[in-house]
Amino acid sequence: MSELFKKIISHCKEYGFIFNSSEIYDGLSAVYDYGPLGVELKNNIKSYWWDAMVKRNKNIVGIDSSIFMHPNTWKASGHIDAFNDPLIDNKDSKKRYRADELIENHIEKIENKINKDIKKAKTKFGDNFNEKEFRKTNQRVLDRQKQINEIISEMNKCLQSENLKGIKKLIEKIELKCPVSGTCNWTEVRQFNLMFKTKIGSNQETSSDIYLRPETAQGIFVNFLNVQKTTRQKIPFGIAQIGKAFRNEIIARQFIFRMREFEQMEMQFFIRPGEEDEWYEYWKEKRMNWHISLGLRKEDFSFKEHTKLAHYAKSACDIEFKFPFGFKELEGIHSRSDFDLIQHQKLSGKKIKYFDSEINESFTPFVIETSIGLDRMFLACLCSSFKREENNNRILLKLPYKLAPIKIAVFPLTKDDSLVNIANNIYEKINKKYNCFYEEKDSIGKRYRRQDAIGTPLCITVDNESEKDQKVTIRNRDSMIQERVALNKIEEYIEGCF
Ligand code: ATP
Repeated sequence: MSELFKKIISHCKEYGFIFNSSEIYDGLSAVYDYGPLGVELKNNIKSYWWDAMVKRNKNIVGIDSSIFMHPNTWKASGHIDAFNDPLIDNKDSKKRYRADELIENHIEKIENKINKDIKKAKTKFGDNFNEKEFRKTNQRVLDRQKQINEIISEMNKCLQSENLKGIKKLIEKIELKCPVSGTCNWTEVRQFNLMFKTKIGSNQETSSDIYLRPETAQGIFVNFLNVQKTTRQKIPFGIAQIGKAFRNEIIARQFIFRMREFEQMEMQFFIRPGEEDEWYEYWKEKRMNWHISLGLRKEDFSFKEHTKLAHYAKSACDIEFKFPFGFKELEGIHSRSDFDLIQHQKLSGKKIKYFDSEINESFTPFVIETSIGLDRMFLACLCSSFKREENNNRILLKLPYKLAPIKIAVFPLTKDDSLVNIANNIYEKINKKYNCFYEEKDSIGKRYRRQDAIGTPLCITVDNESEKDQKVTIRNRDSMIQERVALNKIEEYIEGCF
């Protein structure tokens, strides 16, 4: 784990963004609780997504479906039979891994070697260096790239045909060592179903198996007709929802990146068959723009097309974000054909069709899905915002203003009654519109530093002059510039900032 990532994690705990679940019992692996600031930030991300997806699109509506669903839902979706990860144990360290991730980490190491060679050549040749040409001609780079391509192709072939023996063989061939024991003493590769199972009903004989949903999408598919009929939406239209999902992940490291209980923000967009390619491109662009418009760095995002597609999927890609541990999936955009609706039609025996009056045809709609992990988005925002400014001797959370848990802090410089009165009046007035914070304790410098560390964009200070000149000081988090603003102009000033 990088030093930066460790700092971000301890920062989250120190300031009440995130705690380990059931910490007094030493925590529960890969389950986390959001603290007072964390829940504000999370709610702000949710609103930002909901506004962009549901409120600003006439043809997208929202739902909130339940976590428990009829078990046949998961038979239909393929989760009971195929929501598996290939698992492998090292016999010496007794550590368990996802076999495909082990192989991917190995590939990443080879990629790092290539990047090192490129970096060296860049320093050597300076301005004359041409990376494209170097990749095409340098023998060592070519050999390594060939090695990567062969591993990827072999792995995908095995995963697609569920050839677990083949995956084991590949692990042996590339001499993968356990990162903990350093040995190649591996068990066979087995499939592991990621769904959590429990029982519904109080009577042992009549109770039946039920699952905690591993994705929110199926709640949308099974409600397709309900929503379409009650809202009278015409295709193309979308259904969105935000909710919890549960996966018994084999390895759940990397803090809130991979959790066993997490939240998803998903939207299924129902379209005419044959129009999937254009809508897929449309949603790719739209979703990427959503991330960029938030004000996060453009270069921290990239698309990764899937090479291994689910059998029903026509195209699929991830929007990846540059986390401190590398570019990793933040959001998935999937062209899912009519697979899910057809499957639910088969298992439920209910007709799920849409009559398109424009073309006078009845059909099962195709679907483009956008699916983003709320917790991963939370982590991306933190990673992108966390700064250590040595020269200013402060830690800064440069969150987009829209997302900041507290928008404005109000401070009387001292506990003097007249300053406290003015500060309280300001707080009462602006807290109606913006989430505010009020504090009298500690030196003003310390109070500013604390707000910087939790990302509060503006601090308003009432000082000894305020009563006389009817002005306050407003300090900007990022520039640290302080401006004198008249009491009756504060709201106008704030409005200009947000
Ligand atoms: P990964 O390959 O990282 O396991 P996935 O491809 O299985 O992810 P999807 O099924 O496409 O993920 O889920 C959509 C989104 O839900 C992901 O892009 C991610 O942001 C989020 N997500 C998935 N699994 C987890 C998890 N265990 N913890 C937190 N977020 C998750």
